[in-house]
Amino acid sequence: MDPDLSDEDSVVDLSFEAESPLAPLAELLERLPSCDWLLQGDGQQIFFPPSEAPGRPQEPRCWSSFLEHRVPVVTEEVAREALLSFVNSKCCYGSAAAGNLIIQELKPQTLCRYRLETFSESRISEWTFQPFTSHSVDGPHRGASPRLWDIKVQVPPMFQEDTRKFQVPHSSLVKQCHKCHGRGCYKCSGCHGAGLARCPSCSGAKRRARQPRRCQLCSGSGRRRCSTCSGRGSKTCATCKGEKKLLHFIQLVIVWKNSLFEFVTEHQLDCPAELLAKAKGENLFKDENTMVYPIVDFPLREISLASQRGIAEHSAALGSRARVLQQRQTIELIPLTEVHYWYQGKTSVYYVYGTDHKVYVVDYPERYCCGCTII
Ligand SMILES: [Zn+2]
Ligand SMILES: [Zn+2]
Ligand SMILES: [Zn+2]
Repeated sequence: MDPDLSDEDSVVDLSFEAESPLAPLAELLERLPSCDWLLQGDGQQIFFPPSEAPGRPQEPRCWSSFLEHRVPVVTEEVAREALLSFVNSKCCYGSAAAGNLIIQELKPQTLCRYRLETFSESRISEWTFQPFTSHSVDGPHRGASPRLWDIKVQVPPMFQEDTRKFQVPHSSLVKQCHKCHGRGCYKCSGCHGAGLARCPSCSGAKRRARQPRRCQLCSGSGRRRCSTCSGRGSKTCATCKGEKKLLHFIQLVIVWKNSLFEFVTEHQLDCPAELLAKAKGENLFKDENTMVYPIVDFPLREISLASQRGIAEHSAALGSRARVLQQRQTIELIPLTEVHYWYQGKTSVYYVYGTDHKVYVVDYPERYCCGCTII
């Protein structure tokens, strides 16, 4: 199955269809002396970005003004409204209980959420090819290819993920298509090039079993036009689209990615952490730069530790693989209220969380398992 890239094609089986996209890699590499930065391997190589030196000293922060910040307390009225709008958004929940239950106690807490977002760029190069249709080739004869991190590209807006592909300048070369050996087509495997195939109705017998008359479908010839190639006997090569030649080049793949680290302070209430991680909070502190420094002196030690852990984790994970373009760390306050209520002789709880008063309720008393037929 090894495609022979030499020019003689006399005894080559043209019906094989195995895909071998990067077959000539080794040979191509030999031919591109200017690409000395491209390490030979599995056809794909990650490049280490040039390291950036941090250029900003860490300035001490004064937290006292942040600590005076308070989020509005959820009142009984707000708690009931929140529950009503929650049950109204669910077709399986009745609203009578939400309107009539007796709120006995509200236990408010304010949680603190730390978030670190790191926007990074990584660059990968890989060999690829496409049918050769133009006449100009931007090959090594035009000069050495630039190093991957020297190629200037338009960066998307910060924190907006994207993937884009670019052709590396001066990396192209043209080769005969390795799939069809430069023929642009290959013999149809359905009819072995004949253009005719055995009649499906009489299986080539010219008449159907136990029937005296000749087969109507093939008019007694026993053969039909091959449906795979429409009778042409050959198929256009899908690899070169019939162009006979391929343009091989190094493709630069740039991935802009957001990494997120999230931490919410401990709480004693029974509200799932994943809801609180996504809850809407009130912004207390925001720090955005090409590189942020760990918060060390926030009055809540867990938050300072989370900041140090998050920054260390992102730097270890991205490390030499990607270049950090921007970082943003925030501290937000998340209100969480446990609402104790009484309804038809039973007491239970639900939670109101986030500044937009989202609700989490486990055992709502008026819930129907109805396949959503009762509204
Ligand atoms: Zn055919
Ligand atoms: Zn027939
Ligand atoms: Zn081809």
